[in-house]
Amino acid sequence: MKSLEDLVNYLQSEKYIKSERVKSAFLNIDRKKFVPYVYKDEAYFDEPLPIGENQTISAPHMVAIMLELANIDRGMKILEIGSGSGYNACLMEYLAYPGKVFTIERHRSLYLIARGNIKSCPHSENIQIIEGDGSLGYSDEAPYDRIIVTCGAPDVPSPLLDQLKLNGLMIIPIGGSYIQELYLIKKTGNGIEKFDEGPVAFVPLRGKYGFSKDFY
Ligand code: SAM
Repeated sequence: MKSLEDLVNYLQSEKYIKSERVKSAFLNIDRKKFVPYVYKDEAYFDEPLPIGENQTISAPHMVAIMLELANIDRGMKILEIGSGSGYNACLMEYLAYPGKVFTIERHRSLYLIARGNIKSCPHSENIQIIEGDGSLGYSDEAPYDRIIVTCGAPDVPSPLLDQLKLNGLMIIPIGGSYIQELYLIKKTGNGIEKFDEGPVAFVPLRGKYGFSKDFY
């Protein structure tokens, strides 16, 4: 695909983008600004691309699926685990404005890249990037309306459940260190409801509640 409009038309025709709000976010946050210079020509392909440290910026259809499931409203407070390039954080801030996005990245080099990239976001002042182990969440700003995990976890990290608001939603890939199932998790007054949204392939979540290095 040659242009951002081509990519968005494709994502809409394949029903990955379903809502006008998510479509608007994709059209206003240019993926090209978040991919490394050497991959600029591939920015509008529906593929994951390397961003360094053996990590990737997710394929656009995967980002669209997660954003549609997250159903982000204006004013929400959001936590993302795995800042990577900063792309998804910017999309979420676009949807949540004037809400806030807190995003955690464990690799210092990616944390720095994401910090640089988000300067191009319309409301970068509402995005805070934290360097550290996101499997522990970020209790300083809890509770969150939405928690989005952009790496595959062995199970739902208990600190993330604790930091989710009542009636809040979490989107998280759960399974092995290569292949997982994407779950939509609702925290209700009666406990947790889990919905399996199908198979996905994310890089592994590391850290205290993630996979050890032996798995990858
Ligand atoms: N959301 C990112 C974007 O828009 O570019 C893509 C994220 S990439 C698929 C997954 C990221 O999760 C990687 O950057 C990886 O370093 C990070 N990650 C893995 N385990 C983590 C942890 N325990 N805490 C924080 N980040 C972690």
